[in-house]
Amino acid sequence: MTSPLHREFHDQPYWWETAPLEPAAPAPLPRQVDVAVVGAGYAGLAAATALARAGRSVAVLDAEAPGFGASTRSVGMIGGRLRQGHAGLAATVGPDGALALMRETAAAYRWFLDFVAAEGIDCDLRQSGRLIGAWTWRDAETQKRLADFLASKVGIAAHTLPADALADEIATDLYRGALVLPDDGGLHPARLHAGLLGLARAAGASIFGGTAVHGVTEEGGAMRVGTANGAIAARDVVLATNAYTGRPFPWHRRRVIPVGSYMAASEPLPPGTLARLLPRGRLVNDTRRLAYAFRASPDGSRLLIGGRASARDHADARTVARALHRSACRLFPELAGMRMTHAWGGMVAFTVDRLPNIGSRGRVHHVLGCNGSGVVMNTYLGTRLGRIIGGVDRDQPPTGFARDGLPTHPLYRGQPWFMSPLSAFYGIRDRLDRLTDRPRRSSAHSVGNHRP
Ligand SMILES: Cc1cc2nc3c(=O)[nH]c(=O)nc-3n(C[C@H](O)[C@H](O)[C@H](O)COP(=O)(O)OP(=O)(O)OC[C@H]3O[C@@H](n4cnc5c(N)ncnc54)[C@H](O)[C@@H]3O)c2cc1C
Repeated sequence: MTSPLHREFHDQPYWWETAPLEPAAPAPLPRQVDVAVVGAGYAGLAAATALARAGRSVAVLDAEAPGFGASTRSVGMIGGRLRQGHAGLAATVGPDGALALMRETAAAYRWFLDFVAAEGIDCDLRQSGRLIGAWTWRDAETQKRLADFLASKVGIAAHTLPADALADEIATDLYRGALVLPDDGGLHPARLHAGLLGLARAAGASIFGGTAVHGVTEEGGAMRVGTANGAIAARDVVLATNAYTGRPFPWHRRRVIPVGSYMAASEPLPPGTLARLLPRGRLVNDTRRLAYAFRASPDGSRLLIGGRASARDHADARTVARALHRSACRLFPELAGMRMTHAWGGMVAFTVDRLPNIGSRGRVHHVLGCNGSGVVMNTYLGTRLGRIIGGVDRDQPPTGFARDGLPTHPLYRGQPWFMSPLSAFYGIRDRLDRLTDRPRRSSAHSVGNHRP
């Protein structure tokens, strides 16, 4: 069999071709600011913009180039839902709290769409809709109830399609049906990041790449932020390090579970191929525990594939490309001859209760735990946190994501030792689910525990 790797193969994000990162050149730091923000991804930049617009002096510090973290590596899927359904959320916050979080997430998406438009961020945002393929007949039944629930209780447009009506949406026979969310969409994640970087600077925040924060201590009523390039005194610190939260922040590190996630890009496909395979331009994922994501590149020429291509974090890019090529060919067998030009990885942050969280410990505030929905949610929550610290959030209803505490687990010390076996287990469960799957007429499944 010929190799699925293109002869010009890159182990860096495809997104960086059209939105390269700035160099991570360190620059002299100010001695003192009102707020030091650690992390220059969506969350840190959104918080910095809100703080600077509220009149605070702000320095954003990133160990790497701004955007080096997950923010320029994602699939770029956007929508108004969390990964957990109502039942999963209700187990944590009760049924009313669950519905409130779902409605706030839907509202956060509407806010995000307005924000990108109002700020003039050019990031190829298109609401071309999302299709979630049902991996099993049982999932297809659950999706019908979920569609009703989302439309009637949360205010999200949703409908389902049976397997034999999928041809107008996607040229595959892999799925047993699908849930369609027509208002969801996709964007170019690195161009969104570049837009947020420009907003933060225009608002007056200073951004420092190549400036790793080694620790934060309290000294004489101020916070001392120690970095590789000297220290800054700050009244407040915002921790926006998400899955990259490391040893300098041991309390937070015990509360964030970093999980490796991967992507690959194909070579440009023959004209018309993707328009035929995905006629409505939907972004696609499915109900597997180890979910995959598929989309066309913004210019419509390449297939982009995301997923946990390896049970290991930091897997080799060529191995990732081969694994994601196999996944793509399972969905679209006619792509067997396609070559992959790029593959890369990044880290996604999960929390123990699988909810994004903003909060404070003294004068160290955090926005952490995207749980896979960070394009919208970490931009939204970074903005909310910045406005709260800046004292300009009082006209807003309180956010349900600012909950007391950030839970941990007694067996978790910051090293996700359980992720490899868990991923392997999920892969086996997905295969078993499919093997034992039988068409069913109807069933009384809960609306809540639907994946993804
Ligand atoms: C492969 C992949 C696919 C994804 N797909 C989607 C998707 O389709 N839709 C979606 O909504 N989300 C998706 N995500 C998740 C999304 O990208 C993240 O939720 C989001 O980018 C998080 O933004 P952030 O600003 O919180 O963190 P990041 O962008 O990760 O930024 C954290 C920054 O903190 C810096 N940092 C860490 N420690 C220090 C320190 N000590 N000193 C200084 N700086 C430090 C890091 O260098 C990093 O730049 C995906 C993620 C990955 C990896």
